[in-house]
Amino acid sequence: MYILYLDDSGSPINPNEEYFVLGGVCVPEQSVRWLSYEIEKLAERLVPRNSSGVEFHASEIFGGRENPWNTMHAPADRIAVIKNVLLTLQAAYADIVTFACAVHKASYLGQDPVHVAFEDISSRFNLFLERAGSTTRGLIVLDKTVHETSLQKLAIDFRRTGNTWGRQLRNICEVPLFVDSKATRLIQLADHVAYAVFRRYNAGDLNYFNCIENRFDSDPTTGTIHGLSHLHANRHTCTCPACLSRRS
Ligand SMILES: [Zn+2]
Repeated sequence: MYILYLDDSGSPINPNEEYFVLGGVCVPEQSVRWLSYEIEKLAERLVPRNSSGVEFHASEIFGGRENPWNTMHAPADRIAVIKNVLLTLQAAYADIVTFACAVHKASYLGQDPVHVAFEDISSRFNLFLERAGSTTRGLIVLDKTVHETSLQKLAIDFRRTGNTWGRQLRNICEVPLFVDSKATRLIQLADHVAYAVFRRYNAGDLNYFNCIENRFDSDPTTGTIHGLSHLHANRHTCTCPACLSRRS
């Protein structure tokens, strides 16, 4: 079984932000403990006596207002923490991959960007599972704060009727599981993946995205990046890696 941990970045309604992003990391169940421990080791290095009190949340680390981030006065040190969380993926086996969907909100007026992103990601995750084998199962785990009620209902509807592309998500188990990010290091990693993609599309900041660009689920023969999608009205002329890889 594969578990897809997801978190969001950007607000669905804030008019000062162009994008809403849902993103995260897909991990085979036998690698969950290993990857969690890699992030735990970062926490132990930062706060040796109270690593369990360290929650990695990229926008809070960048902001530097809460403990322990307010003890790191140089912004470069806090940026390095965010990158180090993302770089834990460098030592991972190839079957640990990232997924993200960046929704350009103005291109989807009248639609809920959370629903648009969730539908897109769950269908891509299902295709990943189908490629891994017809009996391969997947479970989606979301941070509790990601619009729980609307996503719960949406997930139940998906199971009953298939998504709006008419495709049944047969390989994905039940409804998504909602967990507290404090208790789950891999939700904290998902938060960083979503943040990296949000910064890339919303601000043109490649600092974090460059740490994970090669980790998105992709087809090695065609080069198509299945794991990353950029939902924008101009995606047919866009030159970002996700849009370019689908045109070539
Ligand atoms: Zn694009």
